Amino acid sequence: MESALTARDRVGVQDFVLLENFTSEAAFIENLRKRFKENLIYTYIGSVLVSVNPYKELEIYSKQNMERYRGVSFYEVSPHLYAIADNSYRSLRTERKDQCILISGESGAGKTEATKKILQYYAVTCPASQQVETVKDRLLQSNPVLEAFGNAKTLRNDNSSRFGKYMDVQFDYRGAPVGGHILNYLLEKSRVVHQNHGERNFHIFYQLLEGGEEDLLRRLGLEKSPQQYHYLVKGHCARVSSINDKNDWKVVRRALSIISFNDNEVEDLLSIVASVLHLGNVQFAADEQGNAQVTTENQIKYLARLLAVEGSVLRDALIHKKIIAKGEELISPLNLEQAAYARDALAKAIYGRTFSWLVNKVNKSLAYKEGEFPGWRSTTVLGLLDIYGFEVFQHNSFEQFCINYCNEKLQQLFIELTLKSEQEEYESEGIAWEPVQGRTQEKKSNDTPNSDAIESHVAPSPSLLCFLTRHKLADQKTRKSLGREEFRLLHYAGEVTYSVAGFLDKNNDLLFRNLKETMCNSENPIINQCFDRTELTDKKRPETAATQFKNSLSKLMEILMSKEPSYIRCIKPNDAKQADRFDEVLIRHQVKYLGLMENLRVRRAGFAYRRKYEVFLQRYKSLCPETWPTWDGRPHDGVAVLVKHLGYKQEEYKMGRTKIFIRFPKTLFATEDALEV
Ligand code: ATP
Ligand code: MG
Repeated sequence: MESALTARDRVGVQDFVLLENFTSEAAFIENLRKRFKENLIYTYIGSVLVSVNPYKELEIYSKQNMERYRGVSFYEVSPHLYAIADNSYRSLRTERKDQCILISGESGAGKTEATKKILQYYAVTCPASQQVETVKDRLLQSNPVLEAFGNAKTLRNDNSSRFGKYMDVQFDYRGAPVGGHILNYLLEKSRVVHQNHGERNFHIFYQLLEGGEEDLLRRLGLEKSPQQYHYLVKGHCARVSSINDKNDWKVVRRALSIISFNDNEVEDLLSIVASVLHLGNVQFAADEQGNAQVTTENQIKYLARLLAVEGSVLRDALIHKKIIAKGEELISPLNLEQAAYARDALAKAIYGRTFSWLVNKVNKSLAYKEGEFPGWRSTTVLGLLDIYGFEVFQHNSFEQFCINYCNEKLQQLFIELTLKSEQEEYESEGIAWEPVQGRTQEKKSNDTPNSDAIESHVAPSPSLLCFLTRHKLADQKTRKSLGREEFRLLHYAGEVTYSVAGFLDKNNDLLFRNLKETMCNSENPIINQCFDRTELTDKKRPETAATQFKNSLSKLMEILMSKEPSYIRCIKPNDAKQADRFDEVLIRHQVKYLGLMENLRVRRAGFAYRRKYEVFLQRYKSLCPETWPTWDGRPHDGVAVLVKHLGYKQEEYKMGRTKIFIRFPKTLFATEDALEV
């Protein structure tokens, strides 16, 4: 049999805190590489799970494996998502404390897959009853629906989530799931009207064209081929070998019924999807004065029917702008460029609002219905956060600015909560707290002003502009390489240069008033709910996209703060979406962006290893004649006798109330190796 020592050489350590050289990034990456090579994609940093996307199916997600993790202590089994899931679930049950699992990582790292696997774990292992089955079904089936409308093929990921998602699962006193609620963040609406080369629009468009029954397509005025639609040809890749749109359509159609859409609602929803495609095909030509005129009457006809609006009103609204000044209406014609802008703005608004409506609809179907579970009023909540990771591209715009701001906040929260929980554990164990030395403290004081600076300035657009200008000026004094339209921010994960072009436009997210009015008069029930009349009479400036995002994020932070967090850090091994390829440069970047070295430093600041006395004694009791085969006294005393026998030195360990704390991995390894002899 392989000894513990040689096994460690081959497969590395399953917890990074056991790395001898814990400040070395090279050692960290080497450990990841060893494990990845052996298909061991999960590794801990204390209680944080690091996961490397295998890009192949591993046999570790079976029901039998789920059972292996059920109710078993974290350290007795190899690292897994299920261990994290089970641990959170158990805390929720035994301490009745709300939990959250935060999943982060860059695009393609495996966040969404992890979220789905955790949900499946709960669906299989939690108590069942007929009502509960319905809830479980709905929780699981909300995924294909939201993915159809909110995910797309990008260069980085064939199923990339283009929105952030936080999902609460509610559990009753027996630990059965009885409801849920989803919050969504910042859908990438610009994708509706434009895709980069090699990317696609949202999946639903292709699914509908590929899978939709002939009757349905006829009613919607659609032709089967994506090539017919301007909004679907920008990326030049309507078909992708890894995606089966036809099949996915069936899955989505079924999922819609499970989350209680009736046939009329499905038809209304698909009418909207189709209307976006028709809108994209609306063309303009300039008349003698240079004013835009619609040249595609056929599209207007379909649009009028699908959106249930007056065709002539819509046509006029697409080529005119209405302003209300001093109580008077002023109508002016649009030129070609403006008309195209108005059309695209309408497409984005319709799609974006429909997406929010959809989330709302899913939430109604997931809502905890007390009547169905009489008597069990009090529930506890477990939240799953699947949100975009830190992003740095060649060209960084408004979206990256918001996403990175969000990551800045989450990182801050993470460091704060990790430090806090370390401190709390030491306190509750009666061990003196030793403050963390080095970068963490420096970092923290650096991070705060940065995220605060972003925060205080993202408010309304004039001050955003001010903020950009100011940062630009401040920057330009010291740096020459910055372009005229750029500014640079120092994030915890490094410097990012943002381009101001299109920034304010995306932030203001303007939809001309007459188009809004037209939508408010729509008789498509979904559109009607999406466009509220009060928007027309409201004198206040509408909130900018950044303000909305900022507000929803601070709510999210509140939600997370009130729960006990667990973390999953996902890493993408290569850019080619290939199995068994470990690209070191790419991985080193992610280790940095995810703040993993810092995380390890915090965790190793005091004691590398800690275990409950019972667990420690059980594992090593055979090494001491006094504790073998059984120890009759308190486990605490047994461990004291045991480590004395093993010759632990005083500075090597401390005895807490319920756990032994061991400072260096080598002490533990020596003990572990002794078992083998
Ligand atoms: P994005 O930010 O773009 O949404 P993501 O982090 O959510 O990215 P996923 O969609 O979860 O990434 O994963 C990308 C792809 O990687 C999946 O479609 C799947 O092919 C593969 N993958 C991820 N995790 C696993 C896993 N545990 N086992 C096998 N394949 C996986
Ligand atoms: Mg995703």
